[in-house]
Amino acid sequence: MAAMGKTVIPIAASRGALPIPEARRDAGATPVDALGRALRDLRISVTDRCNFRCTYCMPKESFGMDHEFLPHAELLSFEEIVRMARVFHALGTAKIRLTGGEPLLRRGIERLVGMLREALPQVDLTLTTNGSALKAKARALEAAGLDRITVSLDSLDDATFRAMNDVDFPVARVLEAIDEAAAAGLAPIKVNMVVKRGVNDRHVVEMARHFRGSGHIVRFIEFMDVGSTNGWRMDDVIPSAEIVRRIDAHFPLEPVEPGYRGEVAERWRYVDGAGEIGVISSVTQAFCSDCTRARLSTDGRLYTCLFAQQGYDLKGLLRTGADDGALEQAVRGIWQQRTDRYSEIRTAETARARKVEMSYIGG
Ligand code: SF4
Repeated sequence: MAAMGKTVIPIAASRGALPIPEARRDAGATPVDALGRALRDLRISVTDRCNFRCTYCMPKESFGMDHEFLPHAELLSFEEIVRMARVFHALGTAKIRLTGGEPLLRRGIERLVGMLREALPQVDLTLTTNGSALKAKARALEAAGLDRITVSLDSLDDATFRAMNDVDFPVARVLEAIDEAAAAGLAPIKVNMVVKRGVNDRHVVEMARHFRGSGHIVRFIEFMDVGSTNGWRMDDVIPSAEIVRRIDAHFPLEPVEPGYRGEVAERWRYVDGAGEIGVISSVTQAFCSDCTRARLSTDGRLYTCLFAQQGYDLKGLLRTGADDGALEQAVRGIWQQRTDRYSEIRTAETARARKVEMSYIGG
């Protein structure tokens, strides 16, 4: 029961967990879902806390600065996270991304990275951050075994950026953190910019210009109807095709073939060799047919889509003595019956439906 005055937003559309389906015997070790997509990527939210209040993810109106986050006892411990990562790896997961909330707020995050690296030497281990604590942690994260990092930066215009993160955090400190992470050996860095019409879209070309020739890759992300609190409207979406057109008018671009099935960003390179950009077009060019991503919430619920309404409680299994075989069977059963393709079937009605909050399961 929330203390008087504390704001409580239902982060999961429904606290009830879905029943875990019986697993079928799969041909191969890697489970394939009902649409033929293999389980390849796991995103692990290590905290639901964040020090930003980005308007498209965790708006202050819904997530006041006194928002009641999950109690620590509810969170998966590092040992439980590593155990789940092993289970997913045994099922063919090759890439693990640590997310949040803001993952660098989880105390000892460097130790968790080290534990994951030790347990899974081959896995591609990445992390997405708002950059606010990155300058201080970049070297330790790299030394612990992190492969790559993605930093969110929604504008180079300080006033606009402060307005979008809604906590008055300056651009300069994120740029310094990107430089430090590059110096620490985490380059090339991916820089994510969520583009919202009338808010920061006029800064798209400036963002491209700033990172041209740096080796870092800016990904321009269409504003999405994630969760149920960001007031999403189709009118606020700048289609990726328009973003590419705007940049191409200044810096000619040509398309780049995807590096692998399920690559989220559509890639474009500068004709003059000054590097690449990416666009992530969940609204106007759905990529569900190649979606190989599962998401584990910070309190151990498995979600099979960013726009899911409900998840599966794996923590309950973990904390009631299930062995790794049973956990593998549970994940296999869940993935096998997966039919998610939200972005392909999005309507004005589905956009209004109650969905899990992105700040709880990570982007
Ligand atoms: S909408 Fe769901 S199924 Fe489609 S790409 Fe996103 S996470 Fe995957």
